[in-house]
Amino acid sequence: MIATEPSLQTVSFYVNGKFTNAEGRPVMPVTNPATGAEIAQVAYASAADVDRTVELAHAAFLKWREVPVVDRVQPLYRYKALLEKHANDLAAALTAENGKTIDDARTEVRRAIQMVEVACGMPTLMMGDSLNDVAAGIDSHTIRQPIGVCAGITPFNFPAMVPMWMWPFAIAAGNTFILKPSEKVPLTPTMAATLLHETGLPAGVFNLLHGDKVAVDALLHHPMVRAVSFVGSTPVAKYIYTTASAEGKRVQALGGAKNHLIVMPDANLEKTVEAIIGSAFGAAGERCLAGSVLVPVGEVADPLLKLLNEKVSAMKMGDGSQQGVDMGPVVTKEHKARIEGYIEKGVAEGAKPLLDGRAAGRDRDGFFVGPTIFDNVRPEMTIAREEIFGPVLSVIRVNTLDDAIALVNKSAFGNATSIFTASGKAAREYSARVDVGMIGVNVGVAAPMAFFPFAGWKNSFFGDLHAHGKDAVMFYTEQKVLMTRWF
Ligand code: NAD
Repeated sequence: MIATEPSLQTVSFYVNGKFTNAEGRPVMPVTNPATGAEIAQVAYASAADVDRTVELAHAAFLKWREVPVVDRVQPLYRYKALLEKHANDLAAALTAENGKTIDDARTEVRRAIQMVEVACGMPTLMMGDSLNDVAAGIDSHTIRQPIGVCAGITPFNFPAMVPMWMWPFAIAAGNTFILKPSEKVPLTPTMAATLLHETGLPAGVFNLLHGDKVAVDALLHHPMVRAVSFVGSTPVAKYIYTTASAEGKRVQALGGAKNHLIVMPDANLEKTVEAIIGSAFGAAGERCLAGSVLVPVGEVADPLLKLLNEKVSAMKMGDGSQQGVDMGPVVTKEHKARIEGYIEKGVAEGAKPLLDGRAAGRDRDGFFVGPTIFDNVRPEMTIAREEIFGPVLSVIRVNTLDDAIALVNKSAFGNATSIFTASGKAAREYSARVDVGMIGVNVGVAAPMAFFPFAGWKNSFFGDLHAHGKDAVMFYTEQKVLMTRWF
C-alpha cells in the first residue's frame, strides 16, 4: 500500500518519489530522550526493500545523468528556500528525537542548508582541466561523470546535517542516492525528505530507507551500489570500509573520535573556558568534534579548572525544547548507561571526579547525565583513550607543549583538536606537528564549513576522499581524460 502523505507517527520510506507505509515490516519505537516517551514508530527495511529501491534508483540514474548539471541543481535551489522556510519545524523535530537544545538544532539546520548551497555550485565544481597542443595538433581535457547509485548511512547525532554532507553533492553530480539514517532519529530525515518531494526532484533520484544492519548489509553487498558514504562509530566505520571495498565500491567511512583541547599558560582564560564548555558539553558531548580530553600546559591548570568548575556547575540541564536550557539529555537509555559505565570506570581507575554527572540524571524520566569532569587522568586510563560520546571531560595535566603533542599523537583517533594560546608560534608549531585532521586555534569546535573537507585522520576516517568540499565532488564522480586530434 502506498500512502500519499508521510506520517510522523509511523515514519516510513521514501522510494521512487513516493512515501510507502510500514505494513509487513518490523516496527520499532522512537523516543524523546528528554521524557523517555515514545513519540513515533519506525519501520525497518528488509533486504528485499533494499533490492527494490536500488533497482529503482538505478533506473532513475540512467535518466538523471542525462539531465544537464545546470538543470540538476535547480531543485536544490528550491530546496534551500523550503528548508529556510521550515527551519524551525525541522529543528523542533530534531530536538524531540535527539535531545539537543533547540538552539543547537537550529544551528545544525543552518549547517545543513549550507551544504545545499555549496552543492548548488556543481556546474563550476564539476569543471575539468584542458590544455591545447599537449603534442603537435593534439588537445587534451578531462571530464567528470557521475558514478551511479550511491548509498549513505548516517549516525544519530546530526540527523539534519550529516545526510547533507552526502546526497546534495551526489545528486548534483548526476548520481542517484539511497539514504539510510540512524534508526534512533528517523523523524528529521523524513521531514527533510517531505520538503525535498515538494521541489519536484524526479522520482528515484533521492530515496530514504529506515532500518538497521539488515538494510546496511544489503546496500553494502548490492552490485548496483557504486559508492558508500558512512558516518558513525569507528568499529562500524571499519566494517563498512572493509566490506564495501571488498565489493569493489568506492567508500568514505568517518568514525569516532577522542579530541584534545590544549590550553597554554598565555591563553585568555575567560574565552577559553567558554570555548571548552561549548566543545565538551555542547550537544551533551554527543559530537564527533567534542573536546573530551582537556590538556592544561604548566601552571595554567589550577586557575583554569577553578573557573571551568564554577561555570560548568552553573549550567542548566533539561528538556532541550525549553528556552534557557544549556544541555539536554543523551540519546537513549542504553547510551546513558554506557556513559555512566565510563564514569564508574574513571573512578575505579583512580581519576579524581571534580564533577560527577550521575546524580543529576537520577530519578528522571528522560536520559540525563550531568556534566562530568575528571582531574588527574593518566593517558593509559580507559576514559582517556576511548570515545565516551557524552558530557565527560578528562583532564590530563602536562608540563610542556612537546608533552601535549606527544600525548595527542599517541591517540588512536585523529579527528579534531584545539589549542588555546596567545602565541602564534605555539599555535603554528602545534598545528604542524599533530597527527590530527581538523585543528582549532582558539576555536573549541573546529567544524569545517561546507566548502572545506571534513578531514579526520587515523581511526576517525577510513578512505581517501573526505565528506563535503571539493573531496565530495571527486568522491561522487569518475574522471575521463580525452586526447583529441582533428585531420
Ligand atoms: P553507529 O556506528 O552506532 O551507527 C551509525 C549508522 O550505522 C546507523 O545508521 C546505524 O543504523 C548503522 N549501524 C550500526 N551498527 C551497524 C552494524 N553493526 N552494521 C551495519 N550498520 C550499522 O553510530 P551512532 O551511535 O549512530 O553515532 C555516534 C558515532 O558517530 C560516534 O562514534 C561519533 O563519533 C560518530 N560520528 C562521527 C562523525 C565524523 O564526522 N567522524 C560525525 C558524527 C558522528
